[in-house]
Amino acid sequence: MAGINFNKQVEENFQAASQYLDLSEDLLNQIKENNTIVHFKFPIRRDDGRIEVIEAWRAQHSHHRKPCKGGIRFAEIANEDEVKALAALMTYKCAIVEVPFGGAKGAVKIDSKKYSMAERERICRRLTFELHNKNFIGPGIDVPAPDYGSGEQEMAWISDTYSSLTHELNAPACVTGKPVAMGGVRGRTEATGMGVAFGLREICKNQKLMDQVSLSADINGKRVAIQGFGNVGYHTARYLSEMGAKVTHVSEFEGMISNPEGLDIKELNEFRSKNGSFAKFSKGEFTEKRDDVFGVDCDILVPAALENQIREDNYDQIKAGIIGEAANGPVTSEASKKLFEKGKVIVPDIYLNAGGVTVSYFEWVKNLSHIRFGRIDKRFDAGQFQDMASLLSEVTEKDISKNLVDKFQRQGDEAQLVASGLEETMIEALRQIIEVMEEHDYKMDLRTATFVLAITKVAKSYELAGIFPG
Ligand code: NAD
Repeated sequence: MAGINFNKQVEENFQAASQYLDLSEDLLNQIKENNTIVHFKFPIRRDDGRIEVIEAWRAQHSHHRKPCKGGIRFAEIANEDEVKALAALMTYKCAIVEVPFGGAKGAVKIDSKKYSMAERERICRRLTFELHNKNFIGPGIDVPAPDYGSGEQEMAWISDTYSSLTHELNAPACVTGKPVAMGGVRGRTEATGMGVAFGLREICKNQKLMDQVSLSADINGKRVAIQGFGNVGYHTARYLSEMGAKVTHVSEFEGMISNPEGLDIKELNEFRSKNGSFAKFSKGEFTEKRDDVFGVDCDILVPAALENQIREDNYDQIKAGIIGEAANGPVTSEASKKLFEKGKVIVPDIYLNAGGVTVSYFEWVKNLSHIRFGRIDKRFDAGQFQDMASLLSEVTEKDISKNLVDKFQRQGDEAQLVASGLEETMIEALRQIIEVMEEHDYKMDLRTATFVLAITKVAKSYELAGIFPG
């Protein structure tokens, strides 16, 4: 969004939290500042023979933990300030969900939709070559992942190029979000949206916060509106529906679709994938006014597109009591303050969308250990459960339902383990955030509490390393 400095927004949030912390100015500056950034350009050949120069960035915000970690965004509006802001958010996000990475982010200034598959492949391979030459990629250095405008396919090209350049044993761990057949982990594609749904479900269980917005303490039946129906928006909608919430409005580039009874998310996704738009989706009402999504009558509003969507000029339209930041930085710091004053609950990005990096961490661990989660213990656990069921049946002289035994025996495959690790992570991170809120008598907003927790954790690493003795 023109005129809004995203990096300044992140710094303002950092500043607001710093006031609650007894840390030296030097340490705060070390944590806040972006450590390294490269800005580079490279040529690629378009399908019609023209040569085009592509602009790209990679920022490593913090090296307090290594490798650095963060997605690569493919967007026409990408710029250096945005990349730095997103890299900083990654540092705080990793700290909140306790994954051992420093924050990073990359961007390629293109609209992927305007490039053929072959052109995108050439861009990704050359990008990897450039990053490798600059020592900005590697399993122990810096590990990219998907973000806005990129997905599994881009990660596959990056992994393949890096592997052919280095021949390292752990080469596939140079990037996460890969297809499973190339070393990806089951559940990474949907992880961010699944994490958003877990996070919102847990927020809705907090009686104090729900009293603040006069809502019942249960996700069941909550009416949800979502902006952006890409990777994060779609999976968020899908899991929230499965949890019993009603997704009544979804907005995309072409406009907004709504159904007060709740949209069938899988059907809507299939329709849009096939037709390129949901304008003609028969089980909902369509309007071209996509930004109307901010003012709809609902309980939870989920911006899942881009930053700076809710600002001083439109925050007043919002009727939802809860705003779940699935995208990075969708609410400006000014709008955030005003919404807090109005009693709204904003669930901050650095907590809510951290499911992606959490499962990326699982993928990285899987690549380094060279074994699929559950491969060694699944059969063993199933056998143990069978033995226990037989013993119980013998002692009680009662039959144990075969269906129950079968159900337990099927559990423990990689997708289930990843989902349960993610669920545990989102629950535990929120428990810690709420502890900060309680320490301050719920006088601060969730974002400030989350930043306080993140900064405290990063500061601890520096203090323990003896760099800034506490
Ligand atoms: P995506 O490209 O898959 O989807 C984004 C969608 O938003 C697209 O379909 C696009 O058409 C739509 N959109 C853009 N502007 C819009 C507007 N004004 N109104 C309505 N729709 C609009 O990207 P994504 O991976 O889903 O990422 C979305 C956000 O989530 C970004 O802020 C990204 O940084 C953040 N995020 C993504 C991940 C991840 O794992 N992909 C992880 C953490 C955070």
